[in-house]
Amino acid sequence: MKEIRFYNSLSGEKEVFRPEFPDKVRIYSCGPTVYNFAHLGNLRAFLFVDLLRRTLLSFGYKPDMTMNITDIDDKIIRESIAQEKNIREFTEPWVKAFQEDLDSLNILKLEHYPRATDSIPSMVEMIQKLRSNGLVYEKDGSLYYSISKFKNYGKLSKIDVSGMKSGTRYDTDEYDKDDVRDFVLWKFPKQDGEPSWETEIGSGRPGWHLECSAMIRDVYGTGVDIHTGGVDLTFPHHENEIAQSEGAYPEESFVKYWLHSEHLLVNGEKMAKSKGNFFTLRDLVKEGEDPRNIRFLLISAHYRSKLNFTKDRLEEASGSVSKIQNCVNRLLEELTKLEKNFVLQENVSGWEEFLESLADDLNISKFLASVFELVKDSNQYLDQNSSEPNEILKRLSLFHKIDSILGVLHFELKKEVLDSDIDELVRQRQEARKNKNFAEADRLRDTLNELGIILEDTKEGLRWKRK
Ligand code: AMP
Ligand code: ZN
Repeated sequence: MKEIRFYNSLSGEKEVFRPEFPDKVRIYSCGPTVYNFAHLGNLRAFLFVDLLRRTLLSFGYKPDMTMNITDIDDKIIRESIAQEKNIREFTEPWVKAFQEDLDSLNILKLEHYPRATDSIPSMVEMIQKLRSNGLVYEKDGSLYYSISKFKNYGKLSKIDVSGMKSGTRYDTDEYDKDDVRDFVLWKFPKQDGEPSWETEIGSGRPGWHLECSAMIRDVYGTGVDIHTGGVDLTFPHHENEIAQSEGAYPEESFVKYWLHSEHLLVNGEKMAKSKGNFFTLRDLVKEGEDPRNIRFLLISAHYRSKLNFTKDRLEEASGSVSKIQNCVNRLLEELTKLEKNFVLQENVSGWEEFLESLADDLNISKFLASVFELVKDSNQYLDQNSSEPNEILKRLSLFHKIDSILGVLHFELKKEVLDSDIDELVRQRQEARKNKNFAEADRLRDTLNELGIILEDTKEGLRWKRK
């Protein structure tokens, strides 16, 4: 298997990637806190995970990946109490919205999406382990991690703990950056209506950092090959994960490679809910933007570089996608003329060069430069009226491989959809609804949506129009 090199935040160097089992590459990524729609910054982090997955697949690895869903934290509790809902009722629609966003962005499904509230027993077990290893103390019914007792604290973020006054504590989920303190593992309920679990370590709920350590153990029974997250999570979140997992199970390896993705910015500042400077995918789709162009924009900058989001940049991304798609369409038209039935090739010469770019810590800029080179060259080839079926098939197959990474292209020539076909689909959908066959009605609605049809209820009845 060809070697891949990743920049490991732990060593500060690019390292050759050697997973323990190539046919089960264990990867854990910090996922969303589900109390609102994800913003494009969050989605950039999730698209990085997708790029990683697609790359590993291209290199012949079999990934076994997890993204957690944080469905309990201070914000969720605040909001759910305000809306008089229990945690599940409150978070469920946001989990669904998160999954819809992933689908719209053509993000491949991972193997596991565990929820924090389903892992309480593992969290309790981990605290018990930490306690017996002498790393935990109690204060007012809550349990804290004593970081001065863990000798490797700071090894990932290189943060200096020497000035820390022992016993200074954090007990919220919302942290100040760079401020070193003992962190809460288990929180004693403070206010009425606050969700809590009755467990062997007392009544309460988990601290945020504990969730990830416990879910990794829940899914894999041990550590992982790769752990990812946005750079803002390096400290304290990931540092605390290390303290918990290695503190509880010092004989095991927790994480071999830490990969951190950079922020999406707006006017030079991190896109964040708290700053109000964010866009959601839905905002942009409502304005008529195609999610594929948003996908392209968010993956087109190297994951370790900051990316400033602007509408102009999105416009440029959409131009780039059209340029590639137009070339693919030309090749498709030409080949369909020459050969009715063709099958795209899996092993195609030229692909090596693309893999080489990805092997260098996912060098997407180099990858895209080669893509545009291929576009230019293929357009020239077609301009010269060259029409050697094998050559066209080879180029198309290469674009198809490229799209196994980019995930933004279509490989069918769009057929003209007749009004009568749409009338028939609309009629079938109405019928399905009348018969309360909602699954079928939803399926037909999606088909109509894909065909670019908008349905409108008017006084004269249901009407449709093209987008
Ligand atoms: P959250 O839902 O806030 O816990 O964040 C989920 C993921 O999004 C984490 O990996 C964060 O590091 C990442 N993230 C948050 N804001 C941004 C941003 N502006 N740019 C890139 N990643 C971000
Ligand atoms: Zn995490």
